[in-house]
Amino acid sequence: MNFNIFDESESEVRSYCRSFPAVFANSQGSMLYDVKGRGYLDFFAGAGSLNYGHNDPDMIEAVVHYLRQGGILQGLDLHTEAKARFLATFRRIILEPRKLDYKLQFTGPTGANAVEAALKLARKVTDRHTIACFSGGYHGMSQGALAITANATKRSSVGVQVPGIVRLPYDGISLTDVNTQLMLLRDMFTKPGYGVDLPAAFILECVQGEGGLNCASNAWLAGVAQLAKEIGALLIVDDIQAGCGRTGTFFSFEGAGIVPDIVCLSKSLSGAGFPLSLNLIRREIDIWNPGEHNGTFRGNNVAMVTATVALEKFWSTPAFADSIAEKSAVLRATLLDALDGNDQISITGRGLMVGLRFVRPAIAKALSRQLFEDGLIIETGGPNNEVLKCMPALTIDSVLLEQGAARIVDATRAAMTPPSFARQNVCL
Ligand SMILES: *Cc1c(COP(=O)(O)O)cnc(C)c1O
Repeated sequence: MNFNIFDESESEVRSYCRSFPAVFANSQGSMLYDVKGRGYLDFFAGAGSLNYGHNDPDMIEAVVHYLRQGGILQGLDLHTEAKARFLATFRRIILEPRKLDYKLQFTGPTGANAVEAALKLARKVTDRHTIACFSGGYHGMSQGALAITANATKRSSVGVQVPGIVRLPYDGISLTDVNTQLMLLRDMFTKPGYGVDLPAAFILECVQGEGGLNCASNAWLAGVAQLAKEIGALLIVDDIQAGCGRTGTFFSFEGAGIVPDIVCLSKSLSGAGFPLSLNLIRREIDIWNPGEHNGTFRGNNVAMVTATVALEKFWSTPAFADSIAEKSAVLRATLLDALDGNDQISITGRGLMVGLRFVRPAIAKALSRQLFEDGLIIETGGPNNEVLKCMPALTIDSVLLEQGAARIVDATRAAMTPPSFARQNVCL
């Protein structure tokens, strides 16, 4: 087969394939295999869209069965049996035990489309225009989602001016304590003279995936939620990457005691990597008119079939969340080893989105490249790609997790030992 076809025929816009230049053929669990049969340990998990690993056998079984019996594949927003089953399962396993009363809006299949729908609804509910968003935030690549994304390179691709945004400092970005940060936010919106319009909504990630695994504290989240309530703005949690168990609980905000008005879910929602996105909407603000946010592919019923399996298999009991906590502890403890008291590295993140932050960004990028050559797939994140992002499948076998973590530690140690560090100081 001609594998120059990618260079010859595919747009220059492609990106992940440049970091991980293999031609992949198969995958199972936490392993990917290229066309030559070489195995790669996956610490990337489809950028958080494969939290349950590749080709979960129960999901594959359910899909094969569904296809064989002539199930609906694309259903627009028609009522289907598969959708009824998914809605009921989501309510029973996710919403009711958490005492949450949301309606579900299926959006177009991308995360960005869920975000667009959330912004539209917030503006409609409040009759305000401004959206308050945060430094380090990432919300997708369509125009509205890019407007509230912080990263300058990504944002510049939009090519037009995007009004109606107020960008605020995320928790921890300034060196002041949480109370001072919250006081400043409150002053901005409640004292005359700041010149900041009241926003329709605050949108935030509890752990910033692309922004470099920055974590908001529970106190800060509670403060922002309280402020939103006080000034009549909605709180939107973009749980597209941090949700579906990535931070240790199904929703990333569960520990903070807040109830967002809208929650965006996508990436690992289908469980198998099929596109499926939705917004959870507080019942009282579901003021959409029929068809007001439309989209052809809101009826990916195969994705609903696997999503139902994922919920039943992993979230029916607390055992899965417990296992994420255990794995997170193992990963953190192993990575701590890499620090060796080195003030050039720190650990960041929560649950199984944990990373090593390097003072010198080039080291994170070089480590990602070298680990790939050694057969481990791991991405970088943050405004300067300074964070080496460990995002293994939540289902990863403990032995593989420890092996992968040990390889990261060894590579990091080697990169940070004085001779090679000095050499890199010169070269990079
Ligand atoms: C990936 C991501 C999006 C965008 O999802 P797409 O499917 O790529 O459009 C939005 N928000 C967050 C937090 C994400 O990680």
